[in-house]
Amino acid sequence: MSQLSESRHRQIRPSQPIADGRIRIDDRELINFAGNDYLGLCHDPRLNQAEGATGSGASPLVVGYHPKAQSIEKYLATLKGSATALIMNSGFQTNATVLSALLRDTLHGKLYNHQGISIPKVQLFCDRFNHASLHFGLSAAQVHQKRFRHNDLEHLESLLKKSSDQEGVRIIVTESVFSMEGDRLDVVALRALGQKYSAFLVIDEAHATGVLGCRGMGLCALNPDQGVMKENELVIGTFGKALGSFGAYVACSAVLRDYLINYCSGYIYSTALPPRILESIDQALQIIPSMSKERQHLQQLAQFLRDGLRDLSLETGPSTTQIVPVLIGDEATTMELKQHLHNKGFVVGGIRPPTVATARLRITLTAKHTVEDVTALLKVLGEGF
Ligand SMILES: *Cc1c(COP(=O)(O)O)cnc(C)c1O
Repeated sequence: MSQLSESRHRQIRPSQPIADGRIRIDDRELINFAGNDYLGLCHDPRLNQAEGATGSGASPLVVGYHPKAQSIEKYLATLKGSATALIMNSGFQTNATVLSALLRDTLHGKLYNHQGISIPKVQLFCDRFNHASLHFGLSAAQVHQKRFRHNDLEHLESLLKKSSDQEGVRIIVTESVFSMEGDRLDVVALRALGQKYSAFLVIDEAHATGVLGCRGMGLCALNPDQGVMKENELVIGTFGKALGSFGAYVACSAVLRDYLINYCSGYIYSTALPPRILESIDQALQIIPSMSKERQHLQQLAQFLRDGLRDLSLETGPSTTQIVPVLIGDEATTMELKQHLHNKGFVVGGIRPPTVATARLRITLTAKHTVEDVTALLKVLGEGF
């Protein structure tokens, strides 16, 4: 990567999220509009009663596969409507290593039932705004990405059409809720494209898991009466955001799960999640399906925030979720505004190139925030600075 200029040099600083959408920084308590703990489960006593060892002591294939991991995978697959699920150590690790495993030519014969004949070619279609971890995994695999305009399925289809007479397995990689725009994928339309062009789908549900979809389990989750997720799909999500814990999952067919256990280096060569973390994931999965009131509050609050920002003539882009960007454009102004809000008691994200093309504030809500919290933020933004 190129050298970062002085003004873009980033630093980390200690901050301690506390309950109810608050955070402690430098002995001050601020309202936290920058976290991903969308349901406030990080501080939920039901998750924090988790018991068990702090280490698993081994990678899963050796002796690190805890019975709890197995039961979570079974239950998670039921919730997602997938044939199986596999617990991974983090979303980044998943995207960095599952994708390159998927792109190994050994898999193609198996996946597409070409009698074991490997198909060396892959045609890879990626949303231009895919998360850095997806990009990292695909770059590591050294496969050329055909990028379609962000969340533009018509553009995707035109690329699919153009290359429909070329050989190779078609794979589409995208997200169900985008981390910087807060907009949603039309999963039904994408699935239809997948069928039409015999494409394999990889969908990252990091920001949708726990928050949206059937039983809150993401936009790809199927109702029990919709049957089981198709074999041409692999869905990824994290336990580190709305689930208030740590780790990640893959939901996919049994063939793929078996393939990953055997060929995904990030799965094979990393110490499994600790039993105590597994306990908290299990707790979160038990309560999330019944948190529809919290989910409704979260989305209503996001709408209230977007309406308020619009009244201040501030642009929120295509957001329709708990992630609300405020598009600013100028980098310096963005960072000054972020600092101004900080001084007034609000933490928001300040996101600028190279992470995004347009510098912005990134406001994220949790179900623990109140209308008063959002009103207070809007008031400060309305006063200008
Ligand atoms: C946060 C995020 C990840 C990484 O997940 P972790 O479990 O935090 O490593 C992956 N994909 C997307 C889209 C994300 O937003």
